Amino acid sequence: MGYSFKTFLKQAGKDFYNQSVNPPVVRASTILFKSFYDIKKMQKKHSKYPTEGYFDYGRQGTSTTHALSKILNKLEESYHVFLTPTGFGSIFLAMLSVVRPGDEILVSDPVYSPTRILTQDFFKDFNIKTIFYNPKDLSTLKNNITKKTKLIFVENPGSNTFEFQDLSKIISIAKKKKIFTAMDNTWGTPYFLKPIKLGFDMAIVSATKYYSGHSDVMGGSLAVNKKVFKYVQKAEKISGLRMGPDDAYLIIRGIRTLDTRLDRHEENTKKIVSFLSKYKKITVLYPFKKGTDDYKMWKKYYKGSSGLMGLKIKSKNKSSISKFVNSLKLFGYGYSWGGFESLALHQELKAQGKRKYTILNKNDHIVRLHIGLEDPKDLINDLKKSLKFIK
Ligand SMILES: *Cc1c(COP(=O)(O)O)cnc(C)c1O
Repeated sequence: MGYSFKTFLKQAGKDFYNQSVNPPVVRASTILFKSFYDIKKMQKKHSKYPTEGYFDYGRQGTSTTHALSKILNKLEESYHVFLTPTGFGSIFLAMLSVVRPGDEILVSDPVYSPTRILTQDFFKDFNIKTIFYNPKDLSTLKNNITKKTKLIFVENPGSNTFEFQDLSKIISIAKKKKIFTAMDNTWGTPYFLKPIKLGFDMAIVSATKYYSGHSDVMGGSLAVNKKVFKYVQKAEKISGLRMGPDDAYLIIRGIRTLDTRLDRHEENTKKIVSFLSKYKKITVLYPFKKGTDDYKMWKKYYKGSSGLMGLKIKSKNKSSISKFVNSLKLFGYGYSWGGFESLALHQELKAQGKRKYTILNKNDHIVRLHIGLEDPKDLINDLKKSLKFIK
């Protein structure tokens, strides 16, 4: 990269052919060439340098999306970054690139629920079998590998229950058996962890979350190493998945402050965690308690922690949990996270498909909190008032 991550984020995308600080929004379907020979020249150059900016038609993007892809490729320290209209589109593309009918996929049990539905239900009709493994017991991963296993799909930490896995161990198991690996790295982003550098073949980040950071745009990125590049390139070409230039512009604008925002999300979250961890009924699902397994695994791989955490609340009174969440004034109630603002969500794991290992006891409830950039003192006061409702 040459510069530090922080400096690079402020410098990236400057293009002196265009004199504005940020790459402009270039919208196009048709790309004009001077002649038949110019198109041929572009295509020939691309076959020689396949990761370099290529457009002969708008579906390959424009200079705006190419600028974002280049920035992300530097952040990820990957071979290439593909852009999709949503984070989930990147997950779909990753799987579609390497998995075929008759294959099997191993997926971490507490995976993002649409990923579970895609693998466990939708792929079944295409004769692709999914087996879920326990993130806390990798023998369930090892013992379920067969000759048909094509892909190990990891999400770290687990959605809603926040388990941290031994990532290098997973990679080494996969490499021995020549199985592809992919990781959903939306929680940490490459600011805290670089999956491709660690040895994953593919790394997904929902740009909807921290990259854009302002809750007003959707996007996804799929970083790849050289080994899988050609498979993903082929699948991308026929999938029609393409990020729009206006969205790419907003994500570039957001990413300038990725480091600053994440540093502050982390600082604020640590304050909230230390406040919440005093409540007896609450188990805080966030890597903060030294000596625990999750903390060790987080410490081993991550440079920091973001603003998303879970509260496991023990209560026989389910409606008191809803009352707690509903009475919060500074936390918006809604899906998604990673914007500048705080959010709360009462997550019912039962509604997320059938988990096999990472299940809750009958009287345990999960409330997911995203800690935003507000003054943490105000957030703590808000939580203090609302926690009284929990019975
Ligand atoms: C939100 C999210 C996604 C999907 O991203 P979208 O941009 O909403 O499609 C995937 N994985 C994780 C972990 C997420 O939180």
